[in-house]
Amino acid sequence: MKSVTSSLSEPPVNDAPLAPCADWNGLGASEHFVQFYERDDFLAKSVAGFIGSGLNNGDSAIVIATADHRQSIEVNLALEGVDVSAAKSASRYIPLDAAETLAKFMVDGSPDERLFQQVIGGLVERTLATGAPLRAFGEMVALLWAKGNSSVAIRLEEMWNGLAKGHTFSLFCAYPMRGFSGHENGVPFAHICKEHSRVFPAESYGLETDSDRRLRTIASLQQRANSLEAEIAERNEAESKLAESRRELSDFLENALDGVHRVAPDGTVLWANRAELELLGYSAHEYVGHSIAEFHADQDVIADVLDRLKKGEKLRDYEARMKCKDGTIRYVSINSTVYRQGDKFVHTQCISRDITERKFASQLLEQKVAERTAQLEEMVAELEAFSYSISHDMRSPLRGMQGYARSLLDDYCDKLDAEAIERLERIERASTRLDQLVRDVLAYTKISQGKIQLAPVDLKRLIADILHQDPAFQEARSSISIKEVSHTVLGHEAYLAQCLSNLIANALKFVAPGESPRVRIRTERIDGNVRVTVSDSGIGIDPEQRDRIFEMFGRVYSEKEYPGTGIGLAIAKKAVSKMGGQIGFACPAGQGTDFWFTLCGVFQ
Ligand code: ADP
Repeated sequence: MKSVTSSLSEPPVNDAPLAPCADWNGLGASEHFVQFYERDDFLAKSVAGFIGSGLNNGDSAIVIATADHRQSIEVNLALEGVDVSAAKSASRYIPLDAAETLAKFMVDGSPDERLFQQVIGGLVERTLATGAPLRAFGEMVALLWAKGNSSVAIRLEEMWNGLAKGHTFSLFCAYPMRGFSGHENGVPFAHICKEHSRVFPAESYGLETDSDRRLRTIASLQQRANSLEAEIAERNEAESKLAESRRELSDFLENALDGVHRVAPDGTVLWANRAELELLGYSAHEYVGHSIAEFHADQDVIADVLDRLKKGEKLRDYEARMKCKDGTIRYVSINSTVYRQGDKFVHTQCISRDITERKFASQLLEQKVAERTAQLEEMVAELEAFSYSISHDMRSPLRGMQGYARSLLDDYCDKLDAEAIERLERIERASTRLDQLVRDVLAYTKISQGKIQLAPVDLKRLIADILHQDPAFQEARSSISIKEVSHTVLGHEAYLAQCLSNLIANALKFVAPGESPRVRIRTERIDGNVRVTVSDSGIGIDPEQRDRIFEMFGRVYSEKEYPGTGIGLAIAKKAVSKMGGQIGFACPAGQGTDFWFTLCGVFQ
């Protein structure tokens, strides 16, 4: 670009005219000048001025141009007063096609000196032989230039100059200015200018004939050249900064510790960094250019990955198994997105992290947990079986103690003093309580151990039976209300009965001294489940005891305050969980307790 601007900003030497030449007659007999132009009509006029003034003075003329240019040159020649047909017939005006003429002396893309001499030299000689001066216009060089072959164009200019050394004729060359944009054209442009005795700038700057206006034009061109140079310097700096940040980014990606790769929409690997290749053990050419599917152990997985990405999903921690060159499998966690240009899927940007060690460790852990769980389950089962047999075996001596204490009280009452009777009654109460405890433990372990079959249970009928059969409930029947109980659940009748009995018994029991209990039983449908709620107006439950009360012996009050074994809720919880349900409670402020459990409902 520098050379372009310096050529343009050079002041015209010896007051040489700017284009278009005001006086073509004033040209020297062997000038070789170049005209740059922007518009074809300007060129046609300029060439017609040059050729026309020659023809009008009796000169000969050769025009080697494109068909379009020849046509418009001839139109303009007519305007210059030239009888083109007559000049042609008299062989004073010789129009030739530029491409065809060029083809006659080009060999392997370069002008052949010998053929040039033959074709062009011969033509020039023959024309000069008439004795008339010769003016020639040629744009074969412009055709070569347009094809990007600047050195060949310069070579042809040199051949014309060589020809001009042995023959006297003036030669007009022309190049469209648009062919010189781009700063890489600066040096060849200067070269072209050097090959010519005169240089005419393109029409935008060449029309000034007044010297003051010409100087102003030159000053304006210098200013534009300066600002262009400054702009180029800025661009160069920005480009080098961009190149530096590209280098940094590619270094960052290339040396990242995680594998990074790009895949085309058809699944071809476009690029992979060092970590990715090292992870799998392939060289770049064994990996890049191949389908990513070749390196995946599970075809459905990679198909799913590409499918999701095409749909615009972002993949986070997507696990896949990749095949290494040595045949081993590595687990990777994929994070991937798609780089798009507008809507177009250009490539994926995929980061794969090696999680093989983590995966093996977690598999090992899972296996250990499964083994331990199985061992624990076995131990629990053994313990439950043991406690069941102990509890079972304890009941007969207990019943013996109860029986003997009762028979002593019944048969020897008159022989015993008050203290002995009191002690016997204590033995009887303690053994009765112990028997109840053993029965509860037995019930609990029986539920824990038993394998159950679930069947539809009509809650309305079941609750009616429970209230009817238990004498304690019969007594308190007036305190118990049943609301909207019309559901059937999938359960085990005996377990359900045990669970409901325990909840109702507690609801009747845990009331403040002197207060009468009020119990309400209701069922409701919640999605596919049925929730059974037993509400009371009792003493409520301290939230701090929330977790404790469902444990075995999870009692809050003393035996004296509220009798019981502390196993009722543990049994209820175990029974509900065996039936696949959940149990819990809520204490509406100052309104007693709502115990509830849910089971799968059976709906028609
Ligand atoms: P028990 O009734 O034999 O004491 P449970 O296992 O049935 O044992 O209940 C455990 C504890 O939960 C009870 O001791 C009591 O503190 C509390 N509890 C259970 N039901 C209620 C209730 N309806 N109202 C208040 N407290 C309750």
